[in-house]
Amino acid sequence: MFRLIRGPTPADTSSTFLSTTTLMSAFANSSHMPCPECGASVAVAKRDEHVCDPERLLDYRMFQLRDEVAGFESALRGWLESAHGRFEQWRAERERPSPGTA
Ligand SMILES: [Zn+2]
Repeated sequence: MFRLIRGPTPADTSSTFLSTTTLMSAFANSSHMPCPECGASVAVAKRDEHVCDPERLLDYRMFQLRDEVAGFESALRGWLESAHGRFEQWRAERERPSPGTA
């Protein structure tokens, strides 16, 4: 059911987040709990046997980090345009070994 969190468009994010929260609270009195690592619904009795599916784990992590992921590119661009960022670009270019000397 956690596949639902992958909204087809970014505009869906806030509404799908709300429904995810509702889903989370639905687990409160259930025999299944979401895995804290991957978000998969795991039977409480079989918790020890659960192994996270790597693909689901990645999806879940990306979902948790979506704001950071979305913000990274603009943060990097902003930094590169700052005085410090421009200096670091200049220095990186300057310190790059020229071909043939390596
Ligand atoms: Zn898991």
